[in-house]
Amino acid sequence: MIRTQVVPDAGASTPVPALEPLLFELARPGRGGRHVRSNDTADLPEKFRRKTPLSLPELTEPQVVRHFTHLAQLNYAVDTGMYPLGSCTMKYNPKVNDRVASLFADVHPRQSYRATQGVLALAYELEQMLAKITGMDYVTLQPQAGAQSEFTALLVFKAYHAKRGEGAQRRRIIVPDSAHGTNPASAAMCGYEVTTVRSDARGNVDLDALKAALGPDVAGFMLTNPNTLGLFEERVREVCDAVHAAGALVYGDGANMNALLGIARPGDVGFDCVHINVHKTFSTPHGAGGPGAGPLCVKAHLRPFLPKPWIVRESDGTYHYDTAREDREPAGLGDSIGTIKQRLGNFGVLVRAYTYIKTLGDEGLLETGNDAVLAANYLLALLKQRYDVAYERSCMHEFVLSGKRQKQNGVRALDIAKGLIDRGFHPPTIYFPLIVDEAMMIEPTETEPKETLDAFAGAMLDIADQAEKQPQLLREAPRNAPLRRLDETLAARKPVLRYRKP
Ligand SMILES: *Cc1c(COP(=O)(O)O)cnc(C)c1O
Repeated sequence: MIRTQVVPDAGASTPVPALEPLLFELARPGRGGRHVRSNDTADLPEKFRRKTPLSLPELTEPQVVRHFTHLAQLNYAVDTGMYPLGSCTMKYNPKVNDRVASLFADVHPRQSYRATQGVLALAYELEQMLAKITGMDYVTLQPQAGAQSEFTALLVFKAYHAKRGEGAQRRRIIVPDSAHGTNPASAAMCGYEVTTVRSDARGNVDLDALKAALGPDVAGFMLTNPNTLGLFEERVREVCDAVHAAGALVYGDGANMNALLGIARPGDVGFDCVHINVHKTFSTPHGAGGPGAGPLCVKAHLRPFLPKPWIVRESDGTYHYDTAREDREPAGLGDSIGTIKQRLGNFGVLVRAYTYIKTLGDEGLLETGNDAVLAANYLLALLKQRYDVAYERSCMHEFVLSGKRQKQNGVRALDIAKGLIDRGFHPPTIYFPLIVDEAMMIEPTETEPKETLDAFAGAMLDIADQAEKQPQLLREAPRNAPLRRLDETLAARKPVLRYRKP
């Protein structure tokens, strides 16, 4: 199936791929597919044996293979086309990353440090590389997602203030109104009250509003830079200074470090810590909720509170975990918040990030940052003829359009997204950030060639035309997908996860 083809007027003439039936629906009794013979279970104690036959679908092997191949062909993936989901950074994952990660597939997280020196060396080296990239001093690789890294950082903030005797007093976290939803959620999960500050007319944090919100009861401020509008915080140093003057800490949400790679470092402008979603910035596109990893990089004053164990390198070049004398026995946590995810977190994702960084080198990282910003600005320039932009500024690695103009014809951001499916593209992130009306957040990433960007822009401009001339067609989109519009709320509230025989 060709997925990147632009269908000018996606209509009934385009062949619609068929929906694949369930294995249960394809099955016929007696077809085969049983490989467990009854005498294979002869040694199983009677009490563990099933009393009723297991109701498995019976199919031939080719049927099974074709079923999963059909499903894979229906799937949209970075390997089949561009995936412009703003804030999610779905870049291409070089196959060498998977190859290298598979070398570690046999290692068990509980294996002795003596038997896994190579694993520890890689992890230690990755910590050093991430510290250098972010301008921080120390790194924990444990958090297995951005949200978990936020949670980790806020626990670290709590421990830091408690150590200074201000634990009970500092109970508030401030977040900008453009923040990713995980920011206030993580703060709430750590027991903090959340205060929101507004953005100003240029899309920056409103510095006066921030100063008014700061006080001796504030534990920290969470800042995303570039922010979720795809804009660089122009007064980031003043923001950090104001927060520090109030005795609070600055948390950097660096989920998307793409735009800054090799260009600017959060550690140099005043952040106390920053997390990186390596599953965004360093490839490993993360469909369907995983897998991910969100290393947390901190300045030296927060190190004592980082999760344990830490990886230690001895002067003879050997490595071990600092809390485990004999692998099993914790030797004291000190001020650490404890363990967030055992030992090395989501190691396979970390290996992919390591490989990506190593393959690129310093020069390649800089080129990555530049190309991510260039690709986004190129698309922005093409699209702003026909779509409103949220803020009249050049963008970083992503930008936010507003579907205000199309809304006047009764076409919503959701309709535009569905129209893209008919034209062979995955839709962008829509209705986020919340402060932009009919938001469409587009992030092409550095891995897309110019021809693909042009094709995507072509599809978006074609949709803008259709929104004026035939808005009804867009409200009916997608017209050439196996499923049309789903009741997404119902699907989330009442998911049907089990097949039941009719
Ligand atoms: C993706 C993202 C997060 C959350 O990361 P997860 O790995 O999905 O938990 C947080 N902040 C920003 C800005 C993000 O883009």
